[in-house]
Amino acid sequence: MDKDRELSNLKNSILKFNKNFPGKNLVFSDGNKDAKVMIVGEAPGRTEDKLQKPFVGRAGKLLDNLLESIRLDRSKVYITNVVNYRPDKNRKPNPKEINKFKKLLFKHIEIIKPKCILLLGSTAATAVLNHIGPLSEVRGKWKNIKIINSYFDILTTFHPAYLLRQSAKIKFVISDLKKINKKFRY
Ligand code: URA
Repeated sequence: MDKDRELSNLKNSILKFNKNFPGKNLVFSDGNKDAKVMIVGEAPGRTEDKLQKPFVGRAGKLLDNLLESIRLDRSKVYITNVVNYRPDKNRKPNPKEINKFKKLLFKHIEIIKPKCILLLGSTAATAVLNHIGPLSEVRGKWKNIKIINSYFDILTTFHPAYLLRQSAKIKFVISDLKKINKKFRY
């Protein structure tokens, strides 16, 4: 089956979860399905729910600027979230939601087959690395992890929404992004 068909089947499976998020829109992905870099965030916010695209609010603008620092833009990355619907009242997805959506995220990763995966923040680190605890324990370190049937190079960094509150941490994210550049020579 080709990628477009597989992605559309996956989208249809995720649409069934809509009943748990009444009144919310599906926010599936943005960017290039053939990109080498796949970025995984947490869950859509208000702007993302409205525009039905990930990372298009304030955190998204910051993400775009950060990507520009390593000459990447949305034509060269593929972006999605662990949870594809906006949780009520801007809360973080709970462990039950993370567990449910994790299987769909793994399928998503298997379809895209990126060269590397960039995890943004603790929800993505919990879903993909099973990491519980301070993000600083995994931030900036490459991991090679089996997802379904293949191994992927995975790097974790701070979430851009966190950087909006803690701008002193931006330098760490830029140094993490440079690791992607170095490994894959853009
Ligand atoms: N934060 C996320 O984790 N994902 C988005 O799409 C927007 C903000």
